[in-house]
Amino acid sequence: MSLRENPQGKRYGKTLTGAHFIGGKLKGENAKEKFQSLNPSYLKDVVGEFPIGTAKDVDEACVVARDAFKKWRMVPAPIRGEIVGKIGQIFREQKEMLSRLITREIGKPLRESRGEVQEAIDTCAFFQSEGRRLYGQTVPSELRRKELETYRRPLGVCGLITAGNFPFAVPSWKIIPAILCGNTVVWKPSEDASTVAHAFMNVLRAAGLPDGVVNMVHGTGPVTGAAVIDAIDKGLIQKISFTGSSRVGMKIGEVAGRNLQIPSLELGGKNPMIVMDDADIDAAVNGAVWAAFGTAGQRCTSLGNLILHKKIADKFVSSFVKRAQALVIGDPNLDEGIAYGPMISERFMKGYLEHHKLAKKGKNTKCLLEGRRITEKNAPKNFKGDAKNGLFVTPTIYDGVAIGDALAQTEVFGPTVNVIRVADFDEAIAAANGTKYGLSSAIYTNDPVTRLRFKNEISAGMSSINNSTTGAEAHLPFGGTGWSGNGTRESGVWVVDSYTRWHAVNIDDSGGLQLAQIETEETGEGKAEDLSELVPGA
Ligand code: NAD
Repeated sequence: MSLRENPQGKRYGKTLTGAHFIGGKLKGENAKEKFQSLNPSYLKDVVGEFPIGTAKDVDEACVVARDAFKKWRMVPAPIRGEIVGKIGQIFREQKEMLSRLITREIGKPLRESRGEVQEAIDTCAFFQSEGRRLYGQTVPSELRRKELETYRRPLGVCGLITAGNFPFAVPSWKIIPAILCGNTVVWKPSEDASTVAHAFMNVLRAAGLPDGVVNMVHGTGPVTGAAVIDAIDKGLIQKISFTGSSRVGMKIGEVAGRNLQIPSLELGGKNPMIVMDDADIDAAVNGAVWAAFGTAGQRCTSLGNLILHKKIADKFVSSFVKRAQALVIGDPNLDEGIAYGPMISERFMKGYLEHHKLAKKGKNTKCLLEGRRITEKNAPKNFKGDAKNGLFVTPTIYDGVAIGDALAQTEVFGPTVNVIRVADFDEAIAAANGTKYGLSSAIYTNDPVTRLRFKNEISAGMSSINNSTTGAEAHLPFGGTGWSGNGTRESGVWVVDSYTRWHAVNIDDSGGLQLAQIETEETGEGKAEDLSELVPGA
């Protein structure tokens, strides 16, 4: 690993010559096939250059992880927790540097990047103490002089594939519980955030994590990601955990399924927010602006379908459009005050610009704001970035959308929102449940009955009441239903189920062979008076 002068992006920092990290060693620095990670706010700034990991690299990392597993699983869980605690401490010490690197590499506003690193710190704090729990149970036996116990056992080598939009928090949600439970890891980070992944890995090294416990192989999805999936069929991976698009998640589900593994799949979303006629409109507009346009709409929990009660729809839309037009867009490295920065990559830019085609299919769709790529010629007055060299876009709002329209059904991954007008709660909840996704959801209402109905009737992994669709905490389960995931959860005690299997143990002290069910003692018959005449006719 080396840092090179980066004259084009001097104001941002040096360029990292990155490498894989396998068995405690940097590898592949001189690989033939490489890719660059560019600063999306200023594409001339090369943040890092990385080898594209081959199947050979992935397999080597898996074998190293398999060897390391033999020792790591025997390290007492509280001691593994101590190392997790150290990792969290170093994250805290390096928080500002790490946050600025996230902002440089993926263009997230600095306050959001700080929030991400904080989420990783919180995750370490939670799992440090989980190392002192990781409880099994003692279970009563139906036979005398016999004890039953359960233990959580690690699974083996975990293949982790992550997306670039939460390049620090999401890897921590996977790596930290996986190793705390005694597993070892082969991580394929997003090609959009490989420098951040390098910095994450650097902290694990600084914390004294033994060699081979976490290995990282850089690369692209079709080459390196595919090699990780193939490693399941080769028997080199016992667990796969994936965060990314539903398309790739479905493929992973198939491969894991034929190997009788339960994958963790955290996928896309088309998240609804309902605003009822009794809601606090100002609060709801605030929530919608943050949910739809924060991180330029590149969160899995971003607001997609804004479902408005027709009585308040006009008032809401007029305020919402004004707020969207006033958003300050720009380079978050140079200005802490911007609302959102660039699209993370050219690929997301393309998807965003192309999504306008979907609108043409809607019968009553009306475009209130048509998001465009910001150029030197069309830049809004309050734009604070380099239009020529950055991937910036203005926001989109469509009105008159029906839930069956392609616009309402497709995850765009950009700052775009569809207004769907409804007459009552029944129509609202039908629209909210009307996509194949089910990640996050929200409602604004002050009516306790509507609130109760929403909680009971919404089909989503996460729901907010009088808050936006986005937001997570390290000790609350995170995940979705339908096309948003297969029901596994990240975070909190729930994720421990994803990285362990239950082991049931019975210990017989009888000195003989006791057989449950067959030799279980009878409970006998009792005798009692007939009391029915105390209440004749009952
Ligand atoms: P993506 O599926 O294209 O890529 C995600 C990861 O998978 C990357 O590391 C990529 O290299 C890899 N990959 C891509 N193609 C692959 C293939 N054929 N085989 C193996 N690996 C492959 O996703 P993206 O478009 O980069 O990220 C955005 C998506 O991620 C959105 O759908 C978003 O909603 C979702 N996401 C979900 C969550 C969640 O927790 N539910 C969080 C963040 C992002």
